[in-house]
Amino acid sequence: MDVTIFGSGYVGLVTGACLAEVGNNVLCIDIDPKKIDLLNSGGVPIHEPGLEELIKNNRDAGRMHFSTDAEAGVKHGLFQFIAVGTPPDEDGSADLQYVLSVARAIGQHMGTYRILVDKSTVPVGTADKVAAAVREVQAARGVSVEFDVVSNPEFLKEGAAIEDFMRPDRIIVGTDNPRTAELLRALYAPFNRNHDRLMTMDIRSAEFTKYAANAMLATKISFMNELSNIAEAVGADIEKVRTGIGSDPRIGYQFIYPGCGYGGSCFPKDVRALEQTARGLGYDPQLLHAVEAVNFRQKELLFKKISDYFGGDLKGRSIALWGLAFKPNTDDMREASSRVLMESLWAAGGRAQAFDPVAMEETRRLYGERADLLLAPDAVSALDGADALAIVTEWSQFRSPDFALIKDRLKSPAIFDGRNILDGRLATAAGLTYVSIGRTPLV
Ligand code: NAD
Repeated sequence: MDVTIFGSGYVGLVTGACLAEVGNNVLCIDIDPKKIDLLNSGGVPIHEPGLEELIKNNRDAGRMHFSTDAEAGVKHGLFQFIAVGTPPDEDGSADLQYVLSVARAIGQHMGTYRILVDKSTVPVGTADKVAAAVREVQAARGVSVEFDVVSNPEFLKEGAAIEDFMRPDRIIVGTDNPRTAELLRALYAPFNRNHDRLMTMDIRSAEFTKYAANAMLATKISFMNELSNIAEAVGADIEKVRTGIGSDPRIGYQFIYPGCGYGGSCFPKDVRALEQTARGLGYDPQLLHAVEAVNFRQKELLFKKISDYFGGDLKGRSIALWGLAFKPNTDDMREASSRVLMESLWAAGGRAQAFDPVAMEETRRLYGERADLLLAPDAVSALDGADALAIVTEWSQFRSPDFALIKDRLKSPAIFDGRNILDGRLATAAGLTYVSIGRTPLV
């Protein structure tokens, strides 16, 4: 089948590569000529495990093409995927300008029936706005070409995106047209063979499902972080509490890790957008508000612990950071906890010496050259001359470090483990002060 994808970011490229991999002809469109040039010259603009190889194979096989030409995109595919960003507006609601600009481009250039498949995370009611935008442009052109708008929210996780797309837990198709549902079912059939995971529903419920999922996941994290702070105050160990409660199948072990807060391009913005949607309709979403507020506070916690350790004076102190990406296996730094820590250190007159296995380039792009940021070539070099170490992202390679070496390199031997990934007893036995989340400090 011929498929066009608008937006060549995390979602667009993964969707395009996976659909090409099963035999479809995919044309990826983006407004950023640098991204398209890079893709056309064999590169991939983002880090996502397995993506580079998948794109290369399908580009070489002639099933995947890249262009900035929206008209060519509209002409190409029966399916017109919308996978552009929906960043937060100033008030936290989702900014739909990119989605609607794609809708207008489609309305402008379509000559025959098209299915607009919305993969971007968009507030309930957006499909109606997309349809209205297409109709408006068509009316200006004096044409009326049939089309459908489908809500098909994406649930992939950065870092495991290809596996998630290839073997999804669910494929949600929101449409009021049974014929369109069948076409989507055919497109997704290769990813739906094991057992039927495709759910059709009305468009509004599909749009809402994505926000509901992300809000639920963010709530789990903030809930655990709330508990971790109470655990610390009462002298309990949140890691023991975590395993204690996870054993109840109604709770489960998944996604209940305490830490220094969630980031990324989805949870923060989606919780805020859902909150704004609710407020706009006159409903006060108290729980959603608390989820975000707890997370905001949690992201400041590492800095606070470090500052307390140094008696409130970080002027001239240098802190090593292990991990910059908002989670492992991605270079995405949108709303990452590392940014809050670094920016707080800088505001307090301190320095950061940072290392991340894949997000160095992105950090350089975000912050440029600055005297209070050293981008170290590896984890050990990041320690040299630093006063203390903060672990901000739970990359596997940080999990079992050489504690004696850490003690040797640091001026003041203290580790602040923002993800509770280290064995504090080993750290303490090596003569380090070990501070983590939700546990009384081991001294
Ligand atoms: P991204 O920022 O990585 O990519 C978006 C791309 O769209 C950019 O390359 C941008 O240049 C391009 N673009 C903007 N306007 C365009 C236009 N008019 N025509 C063509 N391209 C255009 O974003 P992303 O992380 O892939 O997210 C896209 C959407 O999917 C968002 O709504 C997001 O909330 C949602 N989502 C993201 C994830 C994730 O893990 N990243 C998961 C599920 C859903």
